[in-house]
Amino acid sequence: MIVGTRPEIIKLAPVIAALGNRARVIHTGQHYDRNLAGAFFEELGIGEPDVVLGAGARVGRSAQIGIMMMELATEFERRRPAAVIVQGDTNTVSAGAQAANYAGIPVIHVEAGLRSFDRGMPEEINRLVVAALADVHCAATEDNADALRAEGVRPAAVIVTGNTIVEGTQAALERATAIDIPAGAFALATIHRPENTDSERALRRVLSDLGAVSIPVVLVLHPRTRAAVVRHGLESLLAPLTVLEPVGHPEILALASSAELLISDSGGFQEECTVLKKPLLVVRRSTERPESIAAGFASLITPAMNLAAAVNDALDGRRRRHLESTASPYGDGLASARIAQIAISIADGVSVTDAI
Ligand code: UDP
Repeated sequence: MIVGTRPEIIKLAPVIAALGNRARVIHTGQHYDRNLAGAFFEELGIGEPDVVLGAGARVGRSAQIGIMMMELATEFERRRPAAVIVQGDTNTVSAGAQAANYAGIPVIHVEAGLRSFDRGMPEEINRLVVAALADVHCAATEDNADALRAEGVRPAAVIVTGNTIVEGTQAALERATAIDIPAGAFALATIHRPENTDSERALRRVLSDLGAVSIPVVLVLHPRTRAAVVRHGLESLLAPLTVLEPVGHPEILALASSAELLISDSGGFQEECTVLKKPLLVVRRSTERPESIAAGFASLITPAMNLAAAVNDALDGRRRRHLESTASPYGDGLASARIAQIAISIADGVSVTDAI
């Protein structure tokens, strides 16, 4: 298993747990902030990674992917894994899939087939790279599987497993310890995507919009966003908000389940809101998770739209009651068991085709 960022750890934790001592975990170091990794493993009920590589240096994207590939090639040479599992669409996934494929090791891609059709997003390019290389494509939904087949991926290599976040969310909520929940109604916000943080204009707009909504906003500030606030000199826009440091996964879910609604550009929240049964406003130009919108949990709020008005709509009682009884489009909570079974079969010598 190769991980490099918070969402990968969160979404692979149930697979790591299901594989038990058959799994070895390599952290590439892509994000090795203690807040985003370290204690995270413990809270998710899994051990620390077996290996931590040093790819987190502030270098450009191709250098980062190149460094990871070199270091992973050495690890693969030494350990000869029977299969490599990568999850999602980060630089770690691109590097992990390439290094494994070039070493002749089968690649299992978890959360395959997401597409935003926005080639300006680095994640979209990483998705296309891993789709070209993976041997097993574990799609979360039928639509994700369709997207892969439409691009020419061999149908026999695609399996709809559901998304591991369903069981990951349930397990983390059970593990949540007491956390200071703000008194009264509030909206929980997280913002970290480059489209919202890279330019001063975009970040100013998002933070001012958050300051203008009708209920108090708790903003959990990602390190990338904090750095951008300082870089662009926008500290004053944080004043109307309650700003928190990143917290563990169980804690963020406890906060999210106490909130009236969520406002975020995170990919993970678009799935978690369907398990938590909370409305989510997705502050993005596009989304690769239309299932969440189709099921009524999420709404896409593009820069041209009015966030404050969307918040008022989302607070409508009838709409929220409807969500309570709507099933998550992301699966039945058994995705990680299915993925682990495929990996174990391959490790036991079953051919990739027969393992799927
Ligand atoms: N998350 C967390 N602690 C926080 C904020 C978010 O554990 O303080 C979780 C969140 O629940 C989701 C994941 O981190 O599962 C999302 O990660 P991120 O926003 O970094 O990336 P994305 O989902 O956009 O890929």
